[in-house]
Amino acid sequence: MDFEFSEKSLRVQAAVKAFIAAHVAPRDEDYARDEAAGIFPPPFLEELKAKARAQGLWNLFLPGLKPEEPGTPMSNLDYAPCAEIMGRIDWASEVFNCSAPDTGNMELLHLAATPKQKGQWLAPLLEGRIRSSFAMTEPDVASSDATNIRTAIRRDGNDWVISGRKFFITNAADPRTRLFIVMGQTSPDRPEPHRRQSMVLVPADAPGIKVVRNPPVMHHVHGNGHCEVLFEEVRVPAENLLGEEGGGFALAQARLGPGRIHHCMRAIGAAELALELMIGRALERRTFGQALHEHGTIREWIALSRIELEQARLLVFKTAWLIDKFGAKAARREVSLIKVIVPRIEVAIANRAMQVFGAKGLTQDTPLPDIWTHGRYLQIVDGPDEVHLRSIARAEVRAAEKKRAAADYSRPGSTVT
Ligand SMILES: Cc1cc2nc3c(=O)[nH]c(=O)nc-3n(C[C@H](O)[C@H](O)[C@H](O)COP(=O)(O)OP(=O)(O)OC[C@H]3O[C@@H](n4cnc5c(N)ncnc54)[C@H](O)[C@@H]3O)c2cc1C
Repeated sequence: MDFEFSEKSLRVQAAVKAFIAAHVAPRDEDYARDEAAGIFPPPFLEELKAKARAQGLWNLFLPGLKPEEPGTPMSNLDYAPCAEIMGRIDWASEVFNCSAPDTGNMELLHLAATPKQKGQWLAPLLEGRIRSSFAMTEPDVASSDATNIRTAIRRDGNDWVISGRKFFITNAADPRTRLFIVMGQTSPDRPEPHRRQSMVLVPADAPGIKVVRNPPVMHHVHGNGHCEVLFEEVRVPAENLLGEEGGGFALAQARLGPGRIHHCMRAIGAAELALELMIGRALERRTFGQALHEHGTIREWIALSRIELEQARLLVFKTAWLIDKFGAKAARREVSLIKVIVPRIEVAIANRAMQVFGAKGLTQDTPLPDIWTHGRYLQIVDGPDEVHLRSIARAEVRAAEKKRAAADYSRPGSTVT
């Protein structure tokens, strides 16, 4: 394994860092104020995007970006530290056209769209002219098991007709969103449960789509939204099918591999910021005759946080390296490992930092509550922890069973490897 970053990555890392310091960080308070006042997107966002694009700091997340497409393609390993830098401010990634769920959607379109679909949807997404939603989760079924998805996608002549209710659909409240990638059942009676679903491309202005509500998530109303969306007999042409009929489940798996690693890269950046803040505060404040960092408990929190961060970051790098070298499928186990561990350490480190800050740590005067909340979301987004733990454990047990089956029990010591 080789985690050395290329010259290009080092150059882009420095440029992203400088750009955020010069243009994004000074706008952070404006962003929060506008969002709280219901102004979304904030008026300065497009200007920042244009500046970032002019510097080539654009679409950095997509290793397969073609020469004729805008931006700077990077390997997953080279992109990881750039995403980490972006993760220190939760809206920064959009400035570089590197934010979820658009990134996952662009990857999906890159992978499975027809040339016509690419022209209609991928091109404007890569340009950052529109935004998109991925609509899989439903309020009425346990959606961490995608075979439960019930939204009907029925064939009627030359059209698909979509009926169902979706929930937690990120970007659905963003006025720039033009596309929903909707997952639903095209063949509910097919014997293989994993071949019943398909994905269709649905223009956001198609008649029958209703954004029912944008609920606050842990007291925060997101400008782009995590919305409940109703699809009532929404009609799109047959050519809007993405990939093959019955291929929705496989596409969802393919989409989530790189998407999950991007979330984890940004979460490492947010956790690193929480640790920096924790140490800064521990240096400044004194109790009982000592600086806070001189108290044993707080020293331990600082040390544990550093250990956890280094472990998690290296695992993210390993996962990125594996995807680059052998493809997303080969890195499935590692994607699950980081998807579980990174949000946990993000929450734990933010929690310790909040404690070191005392009462102030619970206020929006620090980014700590947002970092904590981000880690907490990630324990559910793109599949809850328990589903990943299940696949990790299943793979371990399967490997152990195989080993036992191959072992020659008649020879002493043959099971020791
Ligand atoms: C901030 C945010 C943004 C999101 N954005 C999107 C989006 O853009 N598009 C979209 O489609 N969805 C989105 N989601 C939804 C997310 O993907 C789902 O919430 C997630 O897949 C879980 O589905 P569910 O909520 O139906 O939980 P359920 O499936 O009902 O699961 C509930 C709980 O059951 C437990 N559980 C499930 N399986 C197992 C198991 N095998 N073993 C043990 N326990 C288990 C887990 O504790 C789990 O949390 C978003 C969620 C959040 C929080």
